[in-house]
Amino acid sequence: GTIYGYRLYRSRQWYNEMHDSDVTIGQKPRVVVLGTGWGAVPLLRHIDTSKYEVVVVSPRNYFLMTPLLPSVSVGTVEPRTVIEPIRSLLGPRIKFVESECINVDPQQKIITCSNDGSKENQETKPIATTSIFGREKLPSSPSIESEYEGGSSSRKIRDGARIRPKFDMKYDYLIVAVGSENNTFGIPGVEKHAHFLKEILDARRIRSAISDAFESAMIPSQTDEDKRRLLHFVIVGGGPTGVEFAAELADYIREDLKYYFPGLIKNYVKITIIEALDHVLSMMDKKISDYTEKHFHRENIEVMINTFVKGIKQKEVIVQVKDSKELQSIPCSIVVWATGIKARPLTNKLREIIGTDKQSNRMGLLTDKYLRVKGVNDGSIYAIGDCATIEQPKVLDRIQLLFEEIDTHKRGSLNLDEFKLFIENKVNEYPQLEIFQKDIEKAFYEADQTKSGSLTLQALRSIMEKADKKLRSLPATAQVATQEGRYVSDLLNYMARSTTSASFKPFSYTHFGSLAYVGGDAAVIDFSGSKPLLDIFSLKPISGRGSYYLWKSFYFTEQFTTRTKFLLAFDWVRARLFGRDISR
Ligand code: FAD
Ligand code: NAD
Repeated sequence: GTIYGYRLYRSRQWYNEMHDSDVTIGQKPRVVVLGTGWGAVPLLRHIDTSKYEVVVVSPRNYFLMTPLLPSVSVGTVEPRTVIEPIRSLLGPRIKFVESECINVDPQQKIITCSNDGSKENQETKPIATTSIFGREKLPSSPSIESEYEGGSSSRKIRDGARIRPKFDMKYDYLIVAVGSENNTFGIPGVEKHAHFLKEILDARRIRSAISDAFESAMIPSQTDEDKRRLLHFVIVGGGPTGVEFAAELADYIREDLKYYFPGLIKNYVKITIIEALDHVLSMMDKKISDYTEKHFHRENIEVMINTFVKGIKQKEVIVQVKDSKELQSIPCSIVVWATGIKARPLTNKLREIIGTDKQSNRMGLLTDKYLRVKGVNDGSIYAIGDCATIEQPKVLDRIQLLFEEIDTHKRGSLNLDEFKLFIENKVNEYPQLEIFQKDIEKAFYEADQTKSGSLTLQALRSIMEKADKKLRSLPATAQVATQEGRYVSDLLNYMARSTTSASFKPFSYTHFGSLAYVGGDAAVIDFSGSKPLLDIFSLKPISGRGSYYLWKSFYFTEQFTTRTKFLLAFDWVRARLFGRDISR
């Protein structure tokens, strides 16, 4: 009875009628949101649809829980567990159009959308060759179903219903939340021979390719050398993506594959992480990097540091060790490329349309502190998440003016009270001044090297240089994207009531720490930079089994709906009780 009642409640007609009553299309300003990722979804869930007509455009009709992608790539978690259909997540008051925005006209306030490239957008690239077993050519159609899912590869189902014309759409506000794409740095062979780990299809392909590698190695005529190559898994990039994937792969091999391929595991399997810098997880506390490297050693994951990948061929990776001129070849089968991200073509196109003099940052769209894209004079375009960077003004750029502003008596120097005033007045505009706030007097006396009791312009300049050096752009994480999305929805809701953003606070990011799974039921958590937690608990970086349970409970609660929470719990229990599904 309850289930029937619930389904009745969800029945479209009733649901639509109930919600559509307050929708008066054409009378409300239209907010068009590009993307259905970590930035867009929190915004869409909080924007006031009684004040705005909201339309989402994205080639992906689902939200993807990226932190669980490494688990999907080895079958600990099933693909459907990490996906939330966007229509059921948002309900009918927000319109969704499955399409890709290909152009923006900021003058006319019109976007152009097309579906030509949209299939590719859902997979980061056409089928990657797994370099296994003489699979020399790419299949003619990038269809994962025929390649990996047991479908007969000669049978192609035509997508006859898929006629989707190009279209234009007007907006009053445009929110760009299109994320980023993998950065190959133009290194030869990456696009063709390596896997990325960014979209759900990437994870599914990796899972199939691992199965392919083991089954290929079991073919009777394989030589020892072939087996060794086939079962050498290489991960390029020791950032969190590379580390988490290596960890999941090591778990998979130790906990499941070991029972089915005991001879292969003992004699041939190898996992290698190749990192250009001198340690993995370089953005985290050094203690965490050291712990992870030692832990990986115990887990039989080889970490090659100070090693730069120069190219990828079908059956090998070409590397160069720091300070050596020689190139080395490492035979392997699956290569997972996790060397960071770059801006999408649409982001770059928009930067060019606005003008690269104003949009000078290649990493993404520069915004002001209200997340409005710089160079768009009417403030109608916002950018959030991986595709955006908040411009951080340097004190040094305006030091003369700032100095004169506070030196009202024209003495050519600032005393302690004036210096205090300077820090207090300017810290909102220049958040890097926070480093002096804890002990302003100490900062003043350190800067006053001549012990004159006042600071000249030159002395002020030298300590402000230190402050400016502390400036870092926000990391490209879900944590940042979520807070930015939430902020823009609050700002738009506020503007709908007050018609101005003048008294609305600029965006400020609160960091709650970084965490990563490192395998063998251990995780690492770094609280550095996490002001709210450090202020209360003065936490140190932690690692090990306790962190693993924190990691698990965190991602469990992060799941958006009860449905996916249930699926996740079920997947974890299933993997523990029955092992992972090792078939492709
Ligand atoms: P995305 O979430 O990538 O969303 C972009 C959206 O835009 C997608 O829906 C896409 O289809 C759509 N889109 C693309 N092009 C267009 C177009 N032209 N027109 C319209 N729509 C378009 N961060 C953490 O904080 N913690 C973690 O543990 C963590 N783990 C991660 C693990 C992996 C394997 C990966 C790859 C990333 C991880 N991240 C993590 C980073 C995090 O996923 C990103 O920072 C986050 O997804 C950025 O959000 P976004 O909304 O900017 O982009
Ligand atoms: P990353 O930029 O964090 O790390 C990439 C690593 O690859 C760097 O250490 C770099 O030195 C190395 N590298 C680059 N080129 C190389 C080459 N040619 N040879 C060898 N090494 C090379 O990238 P990522 O791990 O893909 O993460 C992307 C973004 O997603 C980051 O902002 C990250 O914070 C976020 N993310 C976060 C989590 C988490 O919080 N658990 C997990 C995954 C991703």
